[in-house]
Amino acid sequence: MHELGITQNVLSIVLKEATKAGASRVTKVSLKVGEWSTVEPDCLKFYFGILAKGTLAEGAEVAVEQVPVAYACENCGHEYIPLVSAFACPRCSSNKGKLITGRELFVDSIEVENADSGSAKSSGCK
Ligand SMILES: [Zn+2]
Repeated sequence: MHELGITQNVLSIVLKEATKAGASRVTKVSLKVGEWSTVEPDCLKFYFGILAKGTLAEGAEVAVEQVPVAYACENCGHEYIPLVSAFACPRCSSNKGKLITGRELFVDSIEVENADSGSAKSSGCK
C-alpha cells in the first residue's frame, strides 16, 4: 500500500517540473527504482494512472528502470555488488560495506509537450 504515497510524491514532482517547463501535457515519465527499494513497478504504474487523471500527466507513459544494488567498502573504498552468500568486500574482506545505490527511487526525466510544439498534432482539426 505504500506505493500510493510514493506515487503521490512522484506525481507532485512531475507536475511541478512540467509547470516550470510551461508544458501543456506530460507524455512520458522515467523513474529509477533501486532493486532493494521494495517498490513494485507495476503498482507504481497502476497508481500513477489513477492519480494523474485530470492533471497534466494524464495518460503519460511511465517507464521504470531498475538500479542494481551496489556497496562501497568503508575500509578501502572499493565499490562492489554484494553476493547473497558473501557481503564482505571482495578486495579487503572488510564487512564495513555501505549501501550506495539500490534503495533509491527518483524521477530521472520527464518528456512534455508544450502548447506550441504540441500544436502540430492537433492542427488537423482546425
Ligand atoms: Zn574493502
